Amino acid sequence: MISRNIYSENLTIDVYAQGHWKSSAMKQIKVLFLAAEAEPFVKIGGLGDVAGSLPRALYVLGDVDIRLVIPFHSAIQRQAYSLRPLVTFNISHNEGPIRAETFATDLNGLQVYLISGDPIQNDGTVYSSDAGVDGKKFTFFSLAVLELIRAINWLPDVLHANDWHTAPAIYALSLHNDPLYSKTATLVGIHNLPYLGEGAGSALQAFGLPPTEESTLPQWAQDLPLALGILSADHIVTVSPSYAREILTPDFGSGLENFLKTRTEKISGILNGIDTETWNPATDSTLVRNYSLENISARQVNKQALLDEFGLHPDPEIPLLGLVSRLEPQKGVDLIPNALRAIADQPWQAIFLGTGNPDLEDTVSQLETEFPSRIRVAIRYDEVLSHHIYASADALIIPSRYEPCGLTQMIAMRYGCVPIAHATGGLRDTIMDYEQSQKSTGFLFGDATSHDLSGTILRALRVFADQDDWLGLQLRGMSRDFSWRRSAVKYRKLYRTITSAREESKTR
Ligand code: ADP
Repeated sequence: MISRNIYSENLTIDVYAQGHWKSSAMKQIKVLFLAAEAEPFVKIGGLGDVAGSLPRALYVLGDVDIRLVIPFHSAIQRQAYSLRPLVTFNISHNEGPIRAETFATDLNGLQVYLISGDPIQNDGTVYSSDAGVDGKKFTFFSLAVLELIRAINWLPDVLHANDWHTAPAIYALSLHNDPLYSKTATLVGIHNLPYLGEGAGSALQAFGLPPTEESTLPQWAQDLPLALGILSADHIVTVSPSYAREILTPDFGSGLENFLKTRTEKISGILNGIDTETWNPATDSTLVRNYSLENISARQVNKQALLDEFGLHPDPEIPLLGLVSRLEPQKGVDLIPNALRAIADQPWQAIFLGTGNPDLEDTVSQLETEFPSRIRVAIRYDEVLSHHIYASADALIIPSRYEPCGLTQMIAMRYGCVPIAHATGGLRDTIMDYEQSQKSTGFLFGDATSHDLSGTILRALRVFADQDDWLGLQLRGMSRDFSWRRSAVKYRKLYRTITSAREESKTR
């Protein structure tokens, strides 16, 4: 029996008892999704979330035959999946051919391929600190994906690569101009532009992928994998519409803004979603008390418990500010100390969770010494505490300097925790500012400065004093649809657009 939940928009689908199906209105589109990491196999960062959730959400739409391919990192628990060995083949390298082994498994119906070989398995990590090691690993992987497609005779309509690690697959296709792939549309997803794959150029060359001579690309970028993927792809997608515009500016373009501007019509942005089953205050088993739109007052129980746990004075009238973040310059956490000092005469408490850059860890930790009666800081990665903060804090501070999409603001809103964020990238696209919209769900500030942050926290504190107003913000945030399904419907539309464009260009 077919296991997926068939959904159709302008589409008639016939489901057969054996699990085969066909669409009578529109052809099923075949997509191969390439990523360096994917949940539940292995997750290091946000890309792992996206690659774990988006292909699944597209799969359950029912009319996208999407398959996922990831490197078989040593960190992946081999025994946890029932793996079928597929083909083995060699990938050419200037020091001699390198053997690739491929495996397939089925994740509740979603077909997943894993590729193994010496460059992938030799160092035990997913990402190494050595650009040469990662360059070799991911170029090998990217080229092996193209061989795998040939070997299993399943030709995708769309090759959807993500970030610099898998962008070489698109560059290789454009260089080799193989008639087999003449109808395959290529899409590169940008999750974080500054990671262009610096230092991987010599690895590309060792696998027969020379730098480009295309002069629209600055010379320093002519051997960088993500730049080459952007150069060669039929289309480029970023993880929010605002970020798609921002990367065309000097502030966010990582030096590629002028090159990117030559491709403006090929760039779009689609917001990521969140896993609405994991992030659901009504069923979240880590919470002291579950709650939903219908009984949001029960949320207070979680706040009291968290304040108790951290030894802070449990007064519901005092707004609790939260932070759940990597402590990196991108996240703007260095703006917080001066912002809080500027509003030290106001009533507030704060619980901050984060880990990362040692200097920023110190900066944030020192706040606890400076404000011993009202700030607590946890320097660690702690999944359970993160849930508790989302379910307890009145507001979440998100001062990111840039944010391609961001998940914490969406999770916060789902939990009735009101975001206070810099108006950038996905933060700007997902949060409606209190002053600017009747549908407001949070507070946005214009410049990533301590001054703007403190002014905006102050605005939030004033609204908090009017509990009805605050409740409106919470309820509107909790009602927003941040599901992956929403994103998947948009990706499906994009896939259809780029495959039609590709077909047209080939028949012209
Ligand atoms: P990024 O991927 O750039 O770090 P996102 O906002 O896209 O930022 O995603 C961050 C994710 O990591 C969220 O799910 C957030 O809850 C989680 N997270 C960040 N820091 C921590 C931490 N110290 N402990 C637990 N979870 C964290």
